[in-house]
Amino acid sequence: MEPKFIVDSNVGKLARWLRMMGYDALFFDEEDDGKMAKIALAQGRIIITKDSEFMKRRVITAGRVKAILVSGDNSELQMRKVIDKLNLDHEYRPFTRCIECNVDLISRERGDLEQVVPARVFAIQEQYMQCPSCHRIYWRGTHWQAMSRKLKEFGPAKA
Ligand SMILES: [Zn+2]
Repeated sequence: MEPKFIVDSNVGKLARWLRMMGYDALFFDEEDDGKMAKIALAQGRIIITKDSEFMKRRVITAGRVKAILVSGDNSELQMRKVIDKLNLDHEYRPFTRCIECNVDLISRERGDLEQVVPARVFAIQEQYMQCPSCHRIYWRGTHWQAMSRKLKEFGPAKA
């Protein structure tokens, strides 16, 4: 089964990276981190946090909830640690999930979008996806390509 995540607010950027890879990653930005543990337990989510105190919670030490502790401020290094720890497929289902909303994108017919996307985009892009929640439209533009390259860099380190 594909791993699902809940990402603590102190490492929120990782939620966006995980979504970009196609993983279900909830962002937790409330004060009560006991609630974060409860959600993880109820929904079978892996917790990612920078809070070493949180790791001492019984639910974690007893192994009922899986949690990964990351450190530092470099989100790319943090992401690499998560990938290594879980042996995560960093090219799982890239760009199938809204980076903002964490919901699955749906594909859209190009013909329906002429009035919606910029003309220069419409002229060259064939494939479009849309978020059913925020209605943002995604296409394989330059931003997408840059992100793709980034995701590839999360692969096994070259010797
Ligand atoms: Zn969205």
